[in-house]
Amino acid sequence: MLAIVKSCALVGVDAVEIDVEVDVQRGMPAISLVGLPSGAVKESKDRVRSAIRNCGLRFPSERRVTVNLAPADLRKEGPAYDLPIAVGVLAASGQIPLDVLEGALILGELSLDGSVRHVRGVSAAAYLAHSLGYERIFVPEGDAPEASIIPDIEIVPVGHLIALVEHLLDLDCIPALDRDSVTLEDNQPGYPTDFADVKGQEHVKRALEVAAAGGHNVLMVGPPGAGKTLLARAVPGILPALSLDEMLEITRIHSVADILPEDVPLVRHRPFRSPHHTISQAGLIGGGSVPGPGEVSIAHRGVLFLDELPEFGRTLEVLRQPMEDKFVTISRASGTMRFPSNFMLIAASNPCPCGYYGDGMTACTCSSTMITRYRQKLSGPLLDRIDIHVEVPRVDYDKLADTRRGEPSETIRERVQAARDRQMARFSGSSLLCNADMGPRRVQEVVTLDEAGSALMRSAMQQMNLSARAYHRVLKLSRTIADLEGIGQIQTHHLAEALQYRSRAQ
Ligand SMILES: [Zn+2]
Repeated sequence: MLAIVKSCALVGVDAVEIDVEVDVQRGMPAISLVGLPSGAVKESKDRVRSAIRNCGLRFPSERRVTVNLAPADLRKEGPAYDLPIAVGVLAASGQIPLDVLEGALILGELSLDGSVRHVRGVSAAAYLAHSLGYERIFVPEGDAPEASIIPDIEIVPVGHLIALVEHLLDLDCIPALDRDSVTLEDNQPGYPTDFADVKGQEHVKRALEVAAAGGHNVLMVGPPGAGKTLLARAVPGILPALSLDEMLEITRIHSVADILPEDVPLVRHRPFRSPHHTISQAGLIGGGSVPGPGEVSIAHRGVLFLDELPEFGRTLEVLRQPMEDKFVTISRASGTMRFPSNFMLIAASNPCPCGYYGDGMTACTCSSTMITRYRQKLSGPLLDRIDIHVEVPRVDYDKLADTRRGEPSETIRERVQAARDRQMARFSGSSLLCNADMGPRRVQEVVTLDEAGSALMRSAMQQMNLSARAYHRVLKLSRTIADLEGIGQIQTHHLAEALQYRSRAQ
């Protein structure tokens, strides 16, 4: 007898519909799994067999059991098919009816005793089920709150295979998830670091506000202990509040990456990611044998902080494409998948290998060759994508001892939001979102200088020996600075501030 159960597979951060077909026939006793399953899915056979037996049900081992996952050209990964396969085997061997599963999608991993375990990508699965018109989705009990972020679909939390069998036999109905029982709001604290808690560094805070306002990437250069990490951590809290669509998008990525905390069904805050410099290229942009999102995608719509940037070495080469396209493409024999990667990059570096070049308090012990070589590690295509360079000196004792609080992140965020609103209006109808996205041609169209501004830029080009690229960068930044002030025409003081953010090397 043939049974078909509807389930889904993850491709990138999207779920796609899968038919789990189970056929139980007379013949050589065997169980075979077909339809391009990976090694991890093949282990399903053993888990399903044990779970069924340990639930006191019958596994038809005297027959030939064929499990086909269709479409066959899609590679299936992971343990999420255990539950649909088990249901299919029980139905195909005549132990349960399938009509109750009409209009339902089902997924879940089984442990050997039949309890149903957490799987990745449940919100993607619920989104798929909803968009394909399914009435309900059966998910692992612990994942039900995550599924509930998708509206208008009934969510059935399954804790144990036995409970599902009793539900299908109409013996004991599993109640659908009560959406009111799930708290989507106020279950997470706000951003952990507030600008008000950062002592001194007013010019760095200002540079980070400009960066947040225009979506610009930043490089902070300063000695150890200057507070670069603390400053970077505070940045997500001054970026505009997330829209619901953005929250759903981030949640889906974090669920697929399997980093969603158990008690957080919906990510409500911008991510902050700070991978160590020993990370692999696959870890940074995604990939691996089971392609999953990398740090650039987990940081989507938030901040990617790369401390000790020169130490990342050649790993950084892979950042170019995701930064350019704002998504990562990973190709496999089974197809191509995409992961979003629209993040703000904040990089930090010491000024030299020992860290104290130009410090004033601690003497630098590096030779000039060492310093040159160290800085050369920082040249190249990545630096081209960093609009703001800012020096972060150590804070002197008087400022550290000052107990007055600085300006809170919330106030800064309001200014950033207002500047972003102006950019949204400017770029409406185009794919651009913020000033940092503008290419040279767009800069020419959007940024016009008056006579005084042109004169200042002419002399800066000559005296500071600015390249064409640096020139465009200064114009983009001055546009953002003027947007923060709510002014249409760029003025000389906007340009003067933007000129301070250029790199010493460029
Ligand atoms: Zn040094």
